[in-house]
Amino acid sequence: MDRLIYHGPLTIKDIVTALIAEFNRGHLRAQAIGDDKTTVVQITTVSHPASGGRTALSVHLSHVEDGVQVQLGQQEWFGVAASLGQTAIGALLKPITLLTRLDDLAADINYLQLRDHVHATIERVANAAGASFQISERLRRLTCTYCLTANPVGEPHCISCGAPLGPSQPIACSRCGFVTSAEATVCPQCGNKLS
Ligand SMILES: [Zn+2]
Ligand SMILES: [Zn+2]
Repeated sequence: MDRLIYHGPLTIKDIVTALIAEFNRGHLRAQAIGDDKTTVVQITTVSHPASGGRTALSVHLSHVEDGVQVQLGQQEWFGVAASLGQTAIGALLKPITLLTRLDDLAADINYLQLRDHVHATIERVANAAGASFQISERLRRLTCTYCLTANPVGEPHCISCGAPLGPSQPIACSRCGFVTSAEATVCPQCGNKLS
């Protein structure tokens, strides 16, 4: 599963910092481009430094309501720049973070291994920040459409006017964090069975 949504007090910057620290070493290089809303961290080998390295993995981070969506993929640095509306040359000349490799330990990149390592790193940052696949308390609070009172989690009727609330309360998939309606039985993103 390559798309995850972490809910809670987690920022894109937290993840970028951790990924750069974790992966910008050995024969890997990690660089980031983007802003507060969307950032792509690309982890590459240094075999083609002039072109931004050979792509191993790009981690797309986007800000969502009360959290961060993480999407992993393989994308060339030029494509990353273009998808963010920047020229490739500009991206190469002025990446937000561009650190040179520290040493050159010979080791083969295994894409799946790298992907798991990225997931584990982000999971660690998310845990430290108190974010998870659980939808945040604030999002779960439901504003009554009739009287605009904010109701607590799980309340079937508005505590103020008694209007029914239950079915419209959103839930989040426990496996990927995707937010969906309470009536959904299967996660539209990863297919996980929702209870
Ligand atoms: Zn109400
Ligand atoms: Zn899911």
